[in-house]
Amino acid sequence: MEKCTRCGKPLGEGVNEPVILELSNTDGHYYQSIPPGHVSQGGFPFGLRCATLECLDTVLFLSHEIDRIHSQIN
Ligand SMILES: [Zn+2]
Repeated sequence: MEKCTRCGKPLGEGVNEPVILELSNTDGHYYQSIPPGHVSQGGFPFGLRCATLECLDTVLFLSHEIDRIHSQIN
């Protein structure tokens, strides 16, 4: 049986149906679809809650990246 990549809980049918996120080799974060120019390490299964948390991590990472780039420009 498939297990959640983040917490290791078994995934199955219905509410536990796996959500597939793609891991970027470029920045080490998970995406619903890999950004242009990133190298994909392939799709990994998550429970819905963990997929949401993982996407949130990615959003926080990206917002820090944007801050970092802005501080370099200004
Ligand atoms: Zn999980």
